[in-house]
Amino acid sequence: MELLGKNLGEIQSFLVEHKFPKFRAKQLMDYIYKRYIFDFDDMMQLPETMRNWLKEHCKISIPTIVTEKTAPDGQTKKLLLRFADNNQVETVLMKQHYGNSVCVSSQVGCAMGCIFCASTTGGLYRNLETHEIVGQVLLFGALLKERIHSIVVMGAGEPLQNYKNTIQALRFLHEKESFDIGYRRMTLSTCGIVENIYLLADEGIPITLALSLHAPNDTVRREIMPIGGYYELADVLDAVKTYYEKTDRRVTFEYILIDGVNSSIAQAHELGELVKDFPNCNVNLIPVNGNEHIHLFKPSKRNTEAFKNIVASYGVSVTVRKEMGDAIQAACGQLKIQHAKSSDSNATDTEEKSGTRLAEEMAKKQ
Ligand code: SF4
Repeated sequence: MELLGKNLGEIQSFLVEHKFPKFRAKQLMDYIYKRYIFDFDDMMQLPETMRNWLKEHCKISIPTIVTEKTAPDGQTKKLLLRFADNNQVETVLMKQHYGNSVCVSSQVGCAMGCIFCASTTGGLYRNLETHEIVGQVLLFGALLKERIHSIVVMGAGEPLQNYKNTIQALRFLHEKESFDIGYRRMTLSTCGIVENIYLLADEGIPITLALSLHAPNDTVRREIMPIGGYYELADVLDAVKTYYEKTDRRVTFEYILIDGVNSSIAQAHELGELVKDFPNCNVNLIPVNGNEHIHLFKPSKRNTEAFKNIVASYGVSVTVRKEMGDAIQAACGQLKIQHAKSSDSNATDTEEKSGTRLAEEMAKKQ
């Protein structure tokens, strides 16, 4: 049995079923999540017979670090991680003034095809299992030997497309015996899968919802996000409003600023109009992180400031995201692509062949 991501009750039942005392479950979890000890041989409080039994019947699948990069200021660290099947994802640690924040991936690759995102380059390979999402946080905890304060589900993948595993992982990370992270310190970013936003609103876990809005109208959104062809903006915003009403959590609208695409003065006014009546929201402007794979450019600092001021003039709270990760390719997917280019990874070749894209799926359905 995979122990990672199993809660106290599940481990207790499993141990009792195999004739071990219930209290051993708590000891086992303390070893993993409080002391970061993953080798059963080193769990000396457990009797030898139990350690031997655990070695035969259980595993703790910690992902392998393929490569890591730390920003010059030491505040952002990005890991490229490999799972047992050789698939790879990126995980980022951001040292914020309030504590350590980990940005996790929810899928290997992504089917959504947003034109500004490197994670979708090869399409979707597969969903991550619950323990693989938890493993990303655990690895940073073990490296830092410090408390992880908050979780952001904003790495590779559309988390609401891997709904069950993502929610299960967040519930687990909230448990006292694991990381004890409050739901209010978790943020999930979605490109707007309407049905699942309604589902999430009824989960009873008041996490912060971030909507990848990125356009002030349906026409521009469809050009840069294929999901815009599935759901009208009005329906997405209705779902997000329902989420706010049911959870009382402030909603964030993520808006990537791309020069010549969605960052004109007229579009700033349109965005202000679009969100001005939305109760308790924040617009987070993110200058696009263009590179050799993504041929898009950010507007000048002056134009970014002008865009921000116009949206703010509608009475909307607006911030411009601090570009913490530029120096280490922190925009999702870029480190993975860079690593794949600089190695002969067979795994990556295989993955790229098996990826599927939303655009392809959409074409098939038409
Ligand atoms: S921005 Fe998010 S939803 Fe869009 S392709 Fe990238 S990972 Fe997928």
